[in-house]
Amino acid sequence: MFTLITGPMKSGKSAEFLAQTQPFEHANKDVLFIHPDKNTREEGIKSRLGIEVAAITVGSLKEVNQPFDVIGVDEIHMLPEDDADMIEQWRRQEKHIVISGLDIDYRRQMFPIVRRLLELKPDKHIEMTAFCDVCHDDSRNAQFTQMLDLNGNLVLGGLDSITIDDGGVEYQARCFDCYKTEEE
Ligand SMILES: [Zn+2]
Repeated sequence: MFTLITGPMKSGKSAEFLAQTQPFEHANKDVLFIHPDKNTREEGIKSRLGIEVAAITVGSLKEVNQPFDVIGVDEIHMLPEDDADMIEQWRRQEKHIVISGLDIDYRRQMFPIVRRLLELKPDKHIEMTAFCDVCHDDSRNAQFTQMLDLNGNLVLGGLDSITIDDGGVEYQARCFDCYKTEEE
């Protein structure tokens, strides 16, 4: 079973990720949690609800050598594209796989590894949405992540797709109408 959870910033991906992996833990399955080393903001996997699980930190899924029944990978977009080969291999071995991450970056470009995973056709693809940080529409229709500098100006390019919001930039969840591709 391969479950993929995607969505913009602030859409509750980590909470959904934990919700999808908890039943395996309750069933006493051997659950291995993976956390990309590029995410320097957090150590374990933590949802904004405050739930946290311990995870091993890797630069690539090829470093994983522990046995497991279930593998949970958070922030998949921070891992290299060819790590998709490992996911395919584990799926052939009938492992349970739960993955979450951003699907598109702040420029609305799809992360290469996420494209590869979509091409593998997950058994379940959960697309999360957020409340738009600009119009706050009740329909919770934000599917995009906009990057801003600390003065509130749009950042439309020039920075890496996986720039961490550790103080130099800020991310907002935005709906299609509020997401901007140029300064107005
Ligand atoms: Zn909006």
